[in-house]
Amino acid sequence: MDALGATSIVWFRNDLRLEDNPAFFHAVKNGPVIPIFLWSPNEEDSSVGSASKIWLYHSLFTLKKQLESIGLNLIVRKGDLLKNLLEIAESSNAKSVYSNIRYEPSSIKKDQDIARKIRDIGLEYKTFNGNLIIDPSEILNKSNLPFKVFSHFWKKCLSVTAPTKPLAVPQKIISINKKIQSLDIKDLNLGETKNWALKISKYWDFNYRFAQGKLDSFILNNFNKYSETRNFPSIDGTSKLSPYLHYGQISPNQIFYSLSKSKNTNWKESQYLAEIGWREFGYYLMFHFPHTINEPLRKEFKNFPWIENDILFESWKNGTTGYPLVDAGMRELWETGWMHNRVRMVVASFLVKHLLIDWRKGADWFFDTLVDADLASNTLGWQWSAGCGADSAPYFRIFNPTTQAEKFDINGDYIRRWIPEIKNLRTPNIFQPHKFKDDLFLSNSYSAPIVDHSESRKKALLAYEIIKK
Ligand SMILES: Cc1cc2nc3c(=O)[nH]c(=O)nc-3n(C[C@H](O)[C@H](O)[C@H](O)COP(=O)(O)OP(=O)(O)OC[C@H]3O[C@@H](n4cnc5c(N)ncnc54)[C@H](O)[C@@H]3O)c2cc1C
Repeated sequence: MDALGATSIVWFRNDLRLEDNPAFFHAVKNGPVIPIFLWSPNEEDSSVGSASKIWLYHSLFTLKKQLESIGLNLIVRKGDLLKNLLEIAESSNAKSVYSNIRYEPSSIKKDQDIARKIRDIGLEYKTFNGNLIIDPSEILNKSNLPFKVFSHFWKKCLSVTAPTKPLAVPQKIISINKKIQSLDIKDLNLGETKNWALKISKYWDFNYRFAQGKLDSFILNNFNKYSETRNFPSIDGTSKLSPYLHYGQISPNQIFYSLSKSKNTNWKESQYLAEIGWREFGYYLMFHFPHTINEPLRKEFKNFPWIENDILFESWKNGTTGYPLVDAGMRELWETGWMHNRVRMVVASFLVKHLLIDWRKGADWFFDTLVDADLASNTLGWQWSAGCGADSAPYFRIFNPTTQAEKFDINGDYIRRWIPEIKNLRTPNIFQPHKFKDDLFLSNSYSAPIVDHSESRKKALLAYEIIKK
């Protein structure tokens, strides 16, 4: 160690921010730091979806710029994680590695191995919880078992944790003089120049600053109405912070803290905080039941008679099922990389209950096309919709996509926005366009329903009877 202190590597992962970043904060206190980002998706996670890669590409640029503004250079490498960490440590004479924990099952396993090998050669390996309000290992029920019901889980979380003042960006930063080999972010080939990527990019501001601004304006203007407006996809009633949260451009603690400092006295009981709690619950379930990223939590669903039908699956993906709310959602997803939560529930239910297609196929499509693709929240959402997860919707409660549209897209505005073929249909005809073939404005290019709701419902309930036996 020299007079400046020991050099540390700060390994940025799904925590692409400097504010409220415990790994960065504590490393800087120690001495000089080398910020790095390593791209080795097969080791860190099952995969990284195409839309999510676009987000990663842009958010890495904003992180790099922010680091440069405080005199630090982001080192970017791809390939084997351990090999890169050891090489960087050797060439910089770093004595420790700091990172915030990733909770995906494959990352947990990999990290244990990396930690052991790094410590074996005498370096320090320090990890922090930077991406959840509470570490999943800290919450158990009275029998020392993991909770499976959200309300019990969240009540316990709120009783043992409180928001903390977000860690400030350290002011005194020491960089090192040595040149360390780095790739350009462009060399990671994240697919950012593909047409689809360019189209999606138009809808988003990827800068971390935007996330805090969005949160502040959401708290000021939308928070009080959230429990009503959050269900209506034509209204901008939700915060749209999910991709920023996934890549850690804003921390859940920053949100928790901002809510606690707002003028809203009911912030702790609010629906909005509960949704942040659902995100925590997804991570909690993934931590305690890691097999659920591929398997249903409820064992009886292992034998569910899913159907293989590529034609129906393609219709669902392309937004041509003939059910306007389902199609509007799938088209919004393809166009923007995001879909409203109410519509996510409706399209997921339609796939698993009307088409009887395996929830894992839907989860894979979401994972590839969502900018906020997140293994924990996606698994939670799909298992919830399929009725096979913890505290999920009962299987026999089957959403009717037409009445869901009538209830949550009352004037048909959301449908009109995403399905131009039927935009001139009157309300309520727009909810069942096939019944109004004679309507003056109906274009023939919109498909008839690919399945009948009542028949599908019966088939779904029959399939459920098989696994109940
Ligand atoms: C089938 C299905 C798949 C989903 N896949 C994902 C996914 O891959 N990534 C993802 O981030 N969310 C997923 N969700 C949850 C939810 O739809 C999104 O988090 C939400 O729509 C994001 O929009 P928002 O930021 O405006 O949310 P807001 O309503 O503003 O909520 C604030 C934050 O709370 C969290 N949150 C809200 N609702 C949920 C929920 N139901 N479950 C978990 N966390 C929630 C998100 O982090 C969100 O950003 C999925 C839901 C379903 C039904």
